[in-house]
Amino acid sequence: MSRRDLILRELGLTPLWVPRRQTLETVAEAPAVESVPAASGHSPLVASDVPSAVPRPAPRVSHQAPQTAAAADDRAARVARMDWPALKDAVRGCTACPLHAARKQAVFGVGDEQADWLFVGEGPGAEEDARGEPFVGQAGRLLDNMLAAIGLKRGQDVYIANVVKCRPPGNRVPEPQEAAQCEPFLLRQIELIRPRLIVALGKTAAANLLRTEASLGSLRGRLHDFHGTPVLVTYHPAYLLRSLTDKAKSWEDLCLAVDTMRALKAQQGAQI
Ligand code: URA
Repeated sequence: MSRRDLILRELGLTPLWVPRRQTLETVAEAPAVESVPAASGHSPLVASDVPSAVPRPAPRVSHQAPQTAAAADDRAARVARMDWPALKDAVRGCTACPLHAARKQAVFGVGDEQADWLFVGEGPGAEEDARGEPFVGQAGRLLDNMLAAIGLKRGQDVYIANVVKCRPPGNRVPEPQEAAQCEPFLLRQIELIRPRLIVALGKTAAANLLRTEASLGSLRGRLHDFHGTPVLVTYHPAYLLRSLTDKAKSWEDLCLAVDTMRALKAQQGAQI
């Protein structure tokens, strides 16, 4: 059995899944208008569909007292000026929300700091907290296999980060206040990396990046925007470990992501 077959078996996509395309190479050669099957509800993507100048989302509504809000603005402005070493130090020493109290260490993010691809998850789990790297547990192994299925590898043109950098106790979903305190860090990571495409892994990443309560199902299959960077949404690998049917949908999402990257490169290459 080939490595790819092994990966697809790991993803739960064989023998049910009939390949839309054979390899990443054939994806790259395919006509730009081809995309995920019509049955998925996704519309074909072409370079001109990719937003070139997208408006910044509205600021998060603050429920803080004016003084606290001003301090938060100051902190966000300071983070927004940081370079990589300063940002890593700031995350390592952050005590801005209660999550810092129980962490073994903050989990900054990992990968190619000039990656085209940025994958954003929710927050570290126990293994990530212990090892200081995102997605190194069971869900991380599935993420690595998902990356491999589309010809990508952790650290090579790929960066992986989380909405929150410290482990929420019991792996609960981060509270809005916790995510809000961590947001300047993720925003600065994105500004420094300048990825062509962000893939939001799961509801928490999608909700925080896109500031929406919409269901994950309704967000899949189309491009969104985070401060000018295109965003696609797919299922969180931890969820996929429990849901065989949605693994097939996640494969559609990955194919759409490959098509989108190809269109972005064509569009952005044309602009140079
Ligand atoms: N789940 C996440 O969202 N992030 C990790 O780093 C690990 C598991």
